[in-house]
Amino acid sequence: MLLVVNSGSSSVKLAVFDGMTLCAQTQVDRIGSGGPADHGTALTLGLERLAVPAARLQAAAHRVVHGGAALTQTCRITPEVEAEIAACASLAPLHNPPALSGLRAVARLWPAMPQYAAFDTAFHATNPDVATAYALPLAERDRGLRRYGFHGLSYDAIVRKMQEMTGNALPKRLLSFHLGNGASACAIAEGRSVASSMGFSPLDGLTMGTRPGSLDPAVVLDLVARHGAEQTTQMLNRASGLAALGGSNDMRALHAAGTPEAAFAIDHFCYWAARHGASLCAALGGLDAITFTGGIGENDGIIRSKIVNQLAFLGAVLDGEANAQGATALHAATSRVAIWTVPADEERQIAMEAGSVMRQEEGLG
Ligand code: ADP
Repeated sequence: MLLVVNSGSSSVKLAVFDGMTLCAQTQVDRIGSGGPADHGTALTLGLERLAVPAARLQAAAHRVVHGGAALTQTCRITPEVEAEIAACASLAPLHNPPALSGLRAVARLWPAMPQYAAFDTAFHATNPDVATAYALPLAERDRGLRRYGFHGLSYDAIVRKMQEMTGNALPKRLLSFHLGNGASACAIAEGRSVASSMGFSPLDGLTMGTRPGSLDPAVVLDLVARHGAEQTTQMLNRASGLAALGGSNDMRALHAAGTPEAAFAIDHFCYWAARHGASLCAALGGLDAITFTGGIGENDGIIRSKIVNQLAFLGAVLDGEANAQGATALHAATSRVAIWTVPADEERQIAMEAGSVMRQEEGLG
């Protein structure tokens, strides 16, 4: 059995797979703030809840947000790989340290257990330089300041599922929206990422639950001058986005609130999703299909319809009834663009990728 570990800053999601069968999953929240003291304690607690005997676990696979320029494929965690993930922590100070805590906790609990890492940046390694380079002085680019893109495990899973759903005919030019607490869009040409709305960090791009999305860098300079770097980091990661505009980072709460501020937050979210989506269509040279995934993308027909309506000039038309019912295929008969909802499946993607590395290792050994 394979243990999939998705460590966030204050939570750990665990899933146990036997082959490709999901046997159990759980989530432990509030690490360090009233719940378990650290990721190790949270892991032990989660495993108790899962009721899977540790002796049956053959390996662990971790979601790692940032793999930097070097880690572009799911791999076995060696001391070198761990050092590289730690080096990337300076690029992703809020995202990589929890993954490191998670993998170190597993190593402490079961020192002999093989561990694997799957990276959210990896799927975007196929982006051309013109899409990833910032027009900054060479010395800064050489330090790794570039666009990486995130949510890659989710997008990789979507490509796999689209092939299953449509019987192998993958759309040539796919605009994929991952709309959850974090939100991004990705341009996927013939199954490969060519551009992403997220950049150097998962802060860029769409309006999100608590992140503002794209900002003029002068805004950041102003905020840092006024509040300092630490408070600005906090503000941009935790106190912006829908929460700042509408009073809640939860889309369901915004719909329920019905205040002008909540309505504006919803409009802002949809407008910028469509604006970034259309920019990605320029990278694709057109549009054949749209997919929606994530808590909002999969469940919220109002948001989907606002975004698609703004992309109507590209030939996208929803079937109102299918959209309201949350069907899988959402395009109207007249739509020139196929529109689908695809459930997010990052844990299974991690399990699949780690499983395939494990089989390769067995073949070599
Ligand atoms: P994360 O990025 O943390 O994994 P999720 O993908 O779970 O987040 O998405 C969380 C968002 O999805 C929240 O804004 C939540 O309100 C929204 N959401 C979840 N279920 C629904 C629903 N049925 N209708 C509308 N929004 C929903």
